Amino acid sequence: KSIDQYTQEEAAIAAQALRQSLATYSDAYYTKDAPVVEDHVYDEAYQDLEQLEAVFPAIVTNDSPTQKVGGDVLPGFKKVTHTVPMLSMGDVFSPEELAAFDDRLRRNTAQAIEYNVELKIDGLAIDLIYDQGQFVRGATRGNGTIGEDITQNLKTIKAIPMTLTKPVSIEVRGECFMPKASFADLNQQREADGLAPFANPRNAAAGSLRQLDAKVAESRNLSAFMYTIVTFDDVQATTQAQALTVLAELGFNVNPTATVCQDMTEVQAFIDRYQTTRDDLAYGIDGIVLKVNDLALQRQLGNTVKIPRWEIAYKFPPEEAATVVREIEWTI
Ligand code: NAD
Repeated sequence: KSIDQYTQEEAAIAAQALRQSLATYSDAYYTKDAPVVEDHVYDEAYQDLEQLEAVFPAIVTNDSPTQKVGGDVLPGFKKVTHTVPMLSMGDVFSPEELAAFDDRLRRNTAQAIEYNVELKIDGLAIDLIYDQGQFVRGATRGNGTIGEDITQNLKTIKAIPMTLTKPVSIEVRGECFMPKASFADLNQQREADGLAPFANPRNAAAGSLRQLDAKVAESRNLSAFMYTIVTFDDVQATTQAQALTVLAELGFNVNPTATVCQDMTEVQAFIDRYQTTRDDLAYGIDGIVLKVNDLALQRQLGNTVKIPRWEIAYKFPPEEAATVVREIEWTI
């Protein structure tokens, strides 16, 4: 039966079953870097849970995956408390849902909205801190509040500058990823050594960064694109597009495809372009990210407990979509 025919008690039971499945998937994905299901299976179970919790708000629990970010922090690493929480991101899976996000923003905002549209790099979020131009600390997102100190591993990545072009003190964020070529080499080597191959470049990157031996991380040929400035004390930018320019000027690797779009027709053109050419890129992407370009408006829109209200990911359909039969995760 459909969700609106459920009693609250039935909804609570179904939600608990979904939370249990999602917790198992997340533990495998975030903590062990070895997913047990494809992303779309996770996403569909997550959406079912979101729907149940939307219809029956009383069944939401504090530990529901809809209320928290990421996974656990691995023992063995020094813990880092983020100055500003590292959040997750809302996502949509169809052009109609993306248009609804845009409509909602435009209805709730007095000023004109333009978007900075970026590729959604399939890696893991990293946070870098520089003191007067010198790299001092790098961390994973972890559970959003507490991450893992992976400074030594990040020092082995050529795309991460140890010294900036200006002696600024700045905190920045971006995505660490394993280029497709490095991933292919790594899995070939692992199979030759009788080791299990990594499921995908994202998990390979996460597994490589969370190694206690920096030599292993070094051998994995990781790269990174930076896309967020957390602290603007020493630099000037009023839009996300300007922030990307500042990051590039400071010596960070910045993805060159970002485009400012005035409306959804322009956004759709960006999506069409990269949905058809994603295989030609040297790194994996799993969608695009729409960000309100004006940083003051971003701050005004703010965040929920889990996601910023000023950005959304449009996820590409899974590549094998045609052959995938939706699994029913829960039944009453
Ligand atoms: P997410 O990875 O879908 O989106 C948020 C992240 O996008 C950010 O933290 C950042 O790291 C990244 N990102 C990449 N490019 C970006 C850009 N240009 N600008 C800003 N951010 C950018 O969200 P999440 O909360 O980390 O994870 C949820 C997703 O993880 C799910 O949708 C699912 O697909 C996957 N997942 C899969 C499993 C599984 O078992 N297969 C388990 C858990 C989660």
